[in-house]
Amino acid sequence: MTAFLTLKQGLGHKPAMAFSDITADLKSRMPELRGRLLPNQPLADLTWFRVGGPAQALFMPDSEDDLAYFLGRLPADMPVTVIGLGSNLIVRDGGVPGVVIRLGRGFNEVTVEDGFRVRAGTAVPDVKVARAAQEAGIAGLAFMRGIPGGIGGALRMNGGAYGAETKDVLIEARGVDRRGGLHVFGNGDMGYSYRHCGVADDVIFTQALFQGSAGDPEKIAAEMNRITESREATQPVKSRTGGSTFKNPPGHKAWQLIDAAGCRGLKVGDAQVSEMHCNFLINLGGASAGDIETLGETVRARVKENSGIELEWEIKRIGIAA
Ligand SMILES: Cc1cc2nc3c(=O)[nH]c(=O)nc-3n(C[C@H](O)[C@H](O)[C@H](O)COP(=O)(O)OP(=O)(O)OC[C@H]3O[C@@H](n4cnc5c(N)ncnc54)[C@H](O)[C@@H]3O)c2cc1C
Repeated sequence: MTAFLTLKQGLGHKPAMAFSDITADLKSRMPELRGRLLPNQPLADLTWFRVGGPAQALFMPDSEDDLAYFLGRLPADMPVTVIGLGSNLIVRDGGVPGVVIRLGRGFNEVTVEDGFRVRAGTAVPDVKVARAAQEAGIAGLAFMRGIPGGIGGALRMNGGAYGAETKDVLIEARGVDRRGGLHVFGNGDMGYSYRHCGVADDVIFTQALFQGSAGDPEKIAAEMNRITESREATQPVKSRTGGSTFKNPPGHKAWQLIDAAGCRGLKVGDAQVSEMHCNFLINLGGASAGDIETLGETVRARVKENSGIELEWEIKRIGIAA
């Protein structure tokens, strides 16, 4: 697999955004693979920012067993990156070497269980979990209404809003490690803190079980409507964005530090600090991933200079620069 990091050279010095095709070799090692494995797949349209290069190979397993089979037979030196609904993600312009895994069919079931519980595959959008709980009269999961990601991203990011976060409602999560081993993590095994999960980075979550409590469907629906209205009034939710760019440092709000450093509306190319909520970066249309990341780093430097505080990226950046 020595050639897996080779970029095909285009004319001039800039590499064309295409990797060598590794899929035939991989498939020959995995005769019973059922999911789709495709070379050089564009990722931009799989993210909210709509920027970035391709995946060297994109794998969409058809079940948890298929995922474990794939990982178990994948060469140990092959990089693996998992993505969810791409709402907290910058894919860099040079694309992502190795295999990108995206869960879809086979991981998109949501079921209500006895005891005010909801079980969901990790490809299920958070909003569908919130809605299933509401319809079943299960309170406690309405906060998911406002988070545009999927359950895999919620587990990894400890996604939260309106005073609640994933760690408050999670009973357990299932996941597959880089060697194909299956694990079940209880809430306490997740190593949760603010927008952070302590489970090893190579684990790909496949399913979650959430605990709610008895609630009135009408009241929960009203709460979800309030969340939608409040979001639309305060965040650029219809823009190409990645949500909150930086974590709130202890005792501070990132947006206030950014505002105080004079960065509201700041631009690099077609990337801009949102005028509406200055912890959001937006792609006005023609931004590259490089523009967005440079803008973010410029904001970090200005905030550091102005307040002495170092902002930490909440948005995950994957892949290589062009
Ligand atoms: C308009 C807007 C508003 C937002 N508001 C909020 C908010 O209020 N609260 C909040 O917490 N977030 C918010 N976000 C950020 C984002 O929606 C959350 O972080 C979400 O949980 C990410 O889920 P995703 O499926 O999009 O993950 P992605 O963005 O695709 O990935 C995020 C991270 O999760 C990992 N990941 C994804 N799936 C899996 C999996 N199956 N197993 C292991 N790791 C996985 C990825 O590797 C990556 O590190 C907002 C984003 C936008 C665009």
